[in-house]
Amino acid sequence: MTTSGGIKIPTHTSVLPLGSSVNDQGHLVVGQCDVMDLLAEHGSPLYVYDEQTIRERCRQYVAGLGSVAPDSLVIYASKAFANAAIFQLLAEEGLGLDVVSGGEITLAHRSGFPMERVYFHGNNKLQDEMDLAVELGVGRFVVDNFHELGRLDSLGQRLGMRIPAMIRVGPGVEAHTHEYRKTGALDSKFGIPISTGQAETAVVQATRARGVHLIGLHAHIGSQVFEMAPYLETIDIVLDFAARMHEVYGLDLREFSPGGGWGISYTDEDDPMDADSVARAVGQAVWKSAAERGLANPRIVIEPGRSIVGQSGVALYTVGSIKDIPGVRRYAAVDGGMADNIRPALYGAVYQPVLANRMEDGGTAERVTIAGRYCESGDILVKDAQLPRLSSGDVVALPASGAYNLAMSSNYNMALRPAVVMVKDGTARVIRRRETYADLLGFESALD
Ligand SMILES: *Cc1c(COP(=O)(O)O)cnc(C)c1O
Repeated sequence: MTTSGGIKIPTHTSVLPLGSSVNDQGHLVVGQCDVMDLLAEHGSPLYVYDEQTIRERCRQYVAGLGSVAPDSLVIYASKAFANAAIFQLLAEEGLGLDVVSGGEITLAHRSGFPMERVYFHGNNKLQDEMDLAVELGVGRFVVDNFHELGRLDSLGQRLGMRIPAMIRVGPGVEAHTHEYRKTGALDSKFGIPISTGQAETAVVQATRARGVHLIGLHAHIGSQVFEMAPYLETIDIVLDFAARMHEVYGLDLREFSPGGGWGISYTDEDDPMDADSVARAVGQAVWKSAAERGLANPRIVIEPGRSIVGQSGVALYTVGSIKDIPGVRRYAAVDGGMADNIRPALYGAVYQPVLANRMEDGGTAERVTIAGRYCESGDILVKDAQLPRLSSGDVVALPASGAYNLAMSSNYNMALRPAVVMVKDGTARVIRRRETYADLLGFESALD
């Protein structure tokens, strides 16, 4: 703990939402709300999102990119966490959306999101999703492969329109991140590789297609990336390609997206770049690279997901059973786990938990493994956490839980998804209600 102006601030400032503090009772305070009060009102487990942290990240990306490239757009990768209240907040901040399914498109539409700022990604878009996207006025299709290009052309011709599209190219760049989070390498299910000549074929086909209006190129190299180098490399590779396509086929690169994927802190050891610098660096690199190749400045689109919502979210769990295996390990089981957060089980994600009801416990930390309550031995939220000695009823908070937690959640074991509240200036509003047994039974046709 450090003390500043009488307010105790936990040392985990890089992982907790902005402005988080600890009150006189030693409780974690997020968005001026005591998380113990939130739990008492909304039940446990609970996901809390701090509105100011999301807005701040949006503003940094928008201002940073806008300062070097006035004609630009920041789009939020909705797969990090799709939620109507968050979509509405992002619309207010001037962002667009990256969507990958009919569900996300429908949610954007119903949230009143400006659909021209919605970009439709995905490596196997279904026909009804493509129809829906056109019907609801989605701004761009990001074409992932030849199969889609042909179908998009047919759709456009059938409707007598040229559907605005970008082509996702594979730059053949390795991002240093987990295998499952890499998307830019040659051997990837995403995009059309440049190095094999296939991207060139796609550009030729797209410019000739009467149902498609090719506006630009897109690349995305991965997620939870901490370095700028792979982005700079990607920008140069794609703009080299664009320059060649311009020369040979007259391709007009009006828009270019080098993707998203910027990392956040899950523990104090992570050292992410700040959003403002990332956006500036990308903007400068794209325009510099374009100028060097004699290309006009393209409109720049960047696509952060995790770094918009990750730090804003905190997951709160209550400790139930505790199991000591002498000389081996102490397990503290909480009332959530892999059904609401599969990341540790899926790819070994590491979290730095805090004891939300005793933030200032002076006792020595001890090693404890925070286990989930679902029926898999791998359902462990945090292996070997360092926390004051836990008792049943304690509240463990996992910071940096805003992205890819609930987004990947399931009803495994017929678990109910927890409620989500958005906090701001001491007030909390429910932005997703807790699921009920009635919700689950609603899918059981035999019970209709
Ligand atoms: C997932 C994804 C992003 C965002 O990745 P983050 O790591 O959440 O920033 C951006 N663009 C595309 C195409 C994606 O698939």
